[in-house]
Amino acid sequence: MDILYFEYSQETNSFNPFLCDETCFRKGVFREGEDIFTGLGPDVPMETNGMRKAAEEAGAHLIPCLSLWSQSMGPVRAEIVDFLLSRIRQCYAEHPDIGGVFAVLHGGTQDTREDDSCGYLLEKIREMVGPEVVIAASYDMHANITEKILKNTDVCCGYQTYPHRDTYETGYRAARLGIAKIQNRNAFVTAAVTVPMIVPASGYTSDAGCFHGVLEMGHHWVREGKLLDFSVFQMQPWLDVSPAGSTVVTVAEDASSAARCAEELAQKLFDGREEYWPKLETIDEVLDIASSKDSEKPVILANAGDSPNGGAIGDSVAVLKRILERRLPIRFATVVRDSAAVEKAFAAGVGREADFSIGAGSGIMGQTPAQVRGTVCSLHDGNYRMEGPIGRGLDQSVGPAATIRVGSCDIMLCGYPANTGDPQIYRHFGIEPSLYDLVEVKANTSFRLPFSSFTRNFHTVDVPGCVGISDLKSLPFRKITGPFYPFDTLTGYTVERARIYKHG
Ligand SMILES: [Zn+2]
Repeated sequence: MDILYFEYSQETNSFNPFLCDETCFRKGVFREGEDIFTGLGPDVPMETNGMRKAAEEAGAHLIPCLSLWSQSMGPVRAEIVDFLLSRIRQCYAEHPDIGGVFAVLHGGTQDTREDDSCGYLLEKIREMVGPEVVIAASYDMHANITEKILKNTDVCCGYQTYPHRDTYETGYRAARLGIAKIQNRNAFVTAAVTVPMIVPASGYTSDAGCFHGVLEMGHHWVREGKLLDFSVFQMQPWLDVSPAGSTVVTVAEDASSAARCAEELAQKLFDGREEYWPKLETIDEVLDIASSKDSEKPVILANAGDSPNGGAIGDSVAVLKRILERRLPIRFATVVRDSAAVEKAFAAGVGREADFSIGAGSGIMGQTPAQVRGTVCSLHDGNYRMEGPIGRGLDQSVGPAATIRVGSCDIMLCGYPANTGDPQIYRHFGIEPSLYDLVEVKANTSFRLPFSSFTRNFHTVDVPGCVGISDLKSLPFRKITGPFYPFDTLTGYTVERARIYKHG
C-alpha cells in the first residue's frame, strides 16, 4: 500500500506584518523526497516519525513528497501553497495508485490569499485524488479546524498536550486511523463541534485546571471504548480570520457516540472559558522580585506577548529599557530580534564597544528601540541544536547572531528568533541562564518544561506593544465577528449539535 506524505506547518499571527516567504521555510524546513526522512533522522520525536512507525507496522509505504516548516510569523505567501500543490500533483502523477495522503499540518495557518490555508489545500488535494483516497492529517492543538478541513479529510488528529510533547504520538494516531480507514471505509465516523471562542495561549495547560479536565474526559471515553480518538483544538488566538473557532473532534465506531461525546467535550471546553486566562504581572513587579535577595534565581520573566512561537516578532526591548531606566544592578539576559544590530556587532568585532539601537524594528504598536552603548562579547552563525525535551535534537537557525553586554545585561541579538522556549537560545550563545538573576523568555508555555530543570520561579508578563499579547480585546480584530468570546460574554451559551462526517 502506497501513501503519499507531505508536511505544511506554520502558525500565523495575522497582526505580524512580516510575511512568511520561501526564505522563512528554507531557514526552517524545506525538504523534498527522501531527504525529508534522512534530514529529520529516525529518532527525533516528531509527527513524521510517528506516521512512519504506524505505516511500517501496517506494511504500508510512505512516499515523501515535500516538507515545509517555518517559524511562526505573519501570513504565508500564497505562492508557497501553489508550489506545494504543484509538487503534490507531480508526486500523485508518478504514483497514481496511492491508497492515501498523509499530512503533517499546523492548521492555524493563514496565507495571503486564503484565511483557511489548510482547508484550501485539502480541498484541492481532494479534487485531485477523488473521494476514494483516504486523507489523514495531524494538527497542532492551536489549529483552526474549519468545515472545509473536515469535509475534505477522513482523519483529523490534534495534539493532546500543552506544552506540546505528544507530536510523535499525534502523527502515529493520525496514520493509524488513516490506515484503518483505508482497510475499511466504514471503520469509524468523525463528529465535530465548534465553539465561538479564542483564549490567549499563556493561561492554560493540559497538566492542570479546567483544560486538563476536558482532556481527561476524552481520555476516559477512549479507555472505555466509547471513542476511538478525540482532539480538542484551542484556536491560535492571534488569527484574524473567517471562519474561526475552537473545535472538538471525536472519532467513534457509531455516529451517536461520536456526536454525544463531541457535544459534551465542547460544552465543558466552553464553560471553562474564564479559567484559561493568564495571571499577568507587570514588568516592575517582576523586576522587584528579581532584585530581592530572597527570591529563587533565576527569575523567569515570560514575555508572552512577544513570543515568536506564537507568531509575535521577538523584537521587544521594553524589559531591558526599564532595567536601564531604573538602573537596577541585576544580572539580566534577553533575546532580541534585530539584524541591523547584529551587523553592527560584526562590524565592531569581539571585545569592542559600539553604540547600538536595539529592537522595536517593526515600529508598530508604539514600541521604540533601546539606545545603548555595549561591548560585543561573541559572534555566531546562529545554527544550533535544541536541547528539549520538546524538540530535542532539532536543528535551529536564528541567522547570524551576536551577544553584547550593557552594564549587567547580556543581550543575544539575532535576525530570526526561533523556539525561544528552549534554553539553547541562550546556552549556545554563551549565556548560561541558570547563572542570572532575571531571564526574559519570549514564549507562552513551551519554556516551562525545559526551564523547570533549574528554576520554578516563573512570572508571566504581557509586555505592551507586542502583537502576541494576551489582552485580545486590545488587538485590531476585523474578521472575527460576534457573538464570539471574549469579545462577547456569551453567558448561558449552549453548543451547537455535532456535525457528522462519514466519508464511507
Ligand atoms: Zn500549539
